[in-house]
Amino acid sequence: MSMLYEFEGKNLFKEHNIPVPKSKLYNGKQSIVDFAKEIGKNEMMVKAQALAGGRGKAGLIKKVTVNTAEEHIKSILGRIHHGKPIEIVMLEEPVKIKKEYYLAAMLDTNSGQYLVLASSRGGVDIEEIAEKYPNEIYRLALPITVEPLPFMFIDLGKKLGFTAKKLTQFAQILTNMLTMAINLDLMLVEINPLIETIDGHIIAADSKVVPDGNALFRQPNLASLKSQRDQYSELEYEAAQAGISYVQLDGEIGIIACGAGLSMATCDLLKYYGSSPANFLDVGGGADQKKVSKALEILSEQPIKGIFINVFGGITRCDEVAEGIIDATKRLNIKIPMVIRLIGTNDKKGIEILEKNGFHAYGEMEPAAKKIVELVKGGN
Ligand code: GDP
Ligand code: MN
Repeated sequence: MSMLYEFEGKNLFKEHNIPVPKSKLYNGKQSIVDFAKEIGKNEMMVKAQALAGGRGKAGLIKKVTVNTAEEHIKSILGRIHHGKPIEIVMLEEPVKIKKEYYLAAMLDTNSGQYLVLASSRGGVDIEEIAEKYPNEIYRLALPITVEPLPFMFIDLGKKLGFTAKKLTQFAQILTNMLTMAINLDLMLVEINPLIETIDGHIIAADSKVVPDGNALFRQPNLASLKSQRDQYSELEYEAAQAGISYVQLDGEIGIIACGAGLSMATCDLLKYYGSSPANFLDVGGGADQKKVSKALEILSEQPIKGIFINVFGGITRCDEVAEGIIDATKRLNIKIPMVIRLIGTNDKKGIEILEKNGFHAYGEMEPAAKKIVELVKGGN
């Protein structure tokens, strides 16, 4: 498994009592305003989330004001970093930096030890530190069978120049970091920079966490992070290729609808009748047979309990939609309940096609929504 996003890694840090700055994922203008209020500041860091490092150098980490945040975020969303577009942005409380350190633990599978690397030359990558200041990287090894305890890391902390309270904080952070690495079967945990703030606190300003792909069977939380992510991005991509917009939700019924408005109304209706949407595929106005068929194919690969097709044909022709449904059901082995509502341009012809193939089509969306919920909930 590849590395986690910074925000995912920092969530794990929080769970293991490794201090991190306050943060929030960007999700529209309001989230910027809310976050500024939460931290009580007019300035914040905007950090693009990527599955590769070097964001600082690429201009993907920037301090902005509440007023300029939105514009800046729009300029980085979609930018390509190491081959992938930026889709997630994190807002973070700025920290007042006194000094930046490097701290990492990597698993050496041959010796069954975590190798700890630390340097007071943080902020740049470890290769650069190794090249310029090879004598300023300190090392320590800890067998995975040994419980990490703060006293083990006091000497290392002293070499980095920590004293008094900061030395205690450092030893505790490294203890927590190694405990996390052992408990979660991590190949690598890297904090770069680990920051000493002007007011004397030590805090993880970045996270790089690489899980061991072979141990995911015993790390259900990491495994589900991976599957969510794989599924989400691959599907979105697949759908986009076919001109369909795919939105992942977390319920049980998959929706195919035309237009964003109808898709949303459909989601609401399913909720009203006591179920919830698993996702929706908006095939847009003017959907043809191929698009509809592709949308069903995408849904058929999902872990969902039912399918609701809700089409109000304006530009879209209902007979094309019907042909798409028939094409898909012939190609695919769809075993879950499916309910169709079809009305609008050429609906008579569409309904005829469906009925010839043994499908029923509703004209109104309320009874159709009610029906799919009943079927999914085990009625008939
Ligand atoms: P990376 O370049 O992908 O590793 O991203 P980082 O999260 O490590 O950020 C790059 C650099 O931004 C850091 O090394 C800091 O020197 C700099 N920086 C300046 N102010 C801040 C701040 O308030 N928070 C954080 N996280 N980084 C800051
Ligand atoms: Mn970094």
